[in-house]
Amino acid sequence: MTVAMVPPGAAIPTMNLIDPILQFHDELTRIRREIHAHPELAYEEVKTAELVARKLEEWGIPVIRGLGKTGVVGVIKGRPGTRGVGLRADMDALPLQEHNGFAHKSRHDGRMHACGHDGHTAMLLGAAHHLAKNRDFDGTVYVIFQPAEEGGGGAKQMIDDGLFVQCPMEAIFGMHNWPGMAAGAMGVVAGPMMASSNEFELTIHGKGSHAAQPHMAIDPVMVAVQVAQSWQTIVSRNANPLDAAVLSITQIHTGSATNIIPDSAQMVGTVRTFTLPVLDMMEQRMREVASHTAAAFGARVEFEFRRNYPPLINHGPETEFALQVMKEVVGSDGVKKDVQPTMGAEDFAFMLLEKPGCYVFIGNGDGLHRESGHGLGPCNLHNPSYDFNDSLLPVGASYWVRLATGFLSRPPLR
Ligand SMILES: [Zn+2]
Ligand SMILES: [Zn+2]
Repeated sequence: MTVAMVPPGAAIPTMNLIDPILQFHDELTRIRREIHAHPELAYEEVKTAELVARKLEEWGIPVIRGLGKTGVVGVIKGRPGTRGVGLRADMDALPLQEHNGFAHKSRHDGRMHACGHDGHTAMLLGAAHHLAKNRDFDGTVYVIFQPAEEGGGGAKQMIDDGLFVQCPMEAIFGMHNWPGMAAGAMGVVAGPMMASSNEFELTIHGKGSHAAQPHMAIDPVMVAVQVAQSWQTIVSRNANPLDAAVLSITQIHTGSATNIIPDSAQMVGTVRTFTLPVLDMMEQRMREVASHTAAAFGARVEFEFRRNYPPLINHGPETEFALQVMKEVVGSDGVKKDVQPTMGAEDFAFMLLEKPGCYVFIGNGDGLHRESGHGLGPCNLHNPSYDFNDSLLPVGASYWVRLATGFLSRPPLR
């Protein structure tokens, strides 16, 4: 494994990247842009999955198809042995109209790779290409390309379809690009790093009446107002001040005229927490406050609470190990040990409930990698002018290779 400096344009001069991967940078850029130009939504990643599988097979890697409908796993065997480690990327795009004008802009109206999953897929392909040619490790590296990260729970589907039975592994690792962090810098935090995402729907059943005869009604508007205010005290009065939690009511629907007290009202929104005990508490208190407030007015409620993604919680030993590898790849200056956890959610959390592992951020830079006149808005995730920064491709691929080979060449962490 030779060492080379990072190519011009990347931000961190102390990087220690893998030379053959740097030689492969142009091809990885081509692949990334091809995926960007042909975005596919959750569970529809048929062409993306086919491209991934075709490349893996071309490079001599056996492929498992159809896990989680469109998921793909490449099985890269090194020296004989029972050890195994998983590296995971996501493949799906978003229902968004791209505002960029560059040559690789989306060819599909209303669909866009605005979260950089095109880059995640290309970085993992870069690692797979190198590992297939350099099988100097014990056991098996599984490169996992999952569908439907954006709300569809593709990670869970792959697990339900037998991912960890067909692919036995000691640990699993994930990575996401992070705009605003220096290009190629890497960051992680042990413990909770991304929040659980949950949705609620409250229907308040009152009694409709003429608005001039409020004494004949049970007014669901007043109940909704009281519940909305009281719910905000759950975070401020029931949650431990050191535990982060969000309760956002995002829609209130009721009524049809100025002279009618409506029959019912509906409130929906989202709850985010970093731990399951806080989530349990939030759900319970929301139910209690809503039903007791409604009862005080003579109304009744139906309350539905849906848990989508659990909190993403990085495991201690695997996070320590990932930190060592990051330092090797981007240097101590490029590693941020204390990135702020985010209230965004990520379905890699399902994988971390099954296997120990760690999920890290790789900086996507400040957006200057894009051409001028690229479109409106900053280069944030889910922004119609976002683009993945191609200078990260060899950085992420080098991290994956060093992580997998390092993991399999050291004694098990547990
Ligand atoms: Zn996203
Ligand atoms: Zn994403």
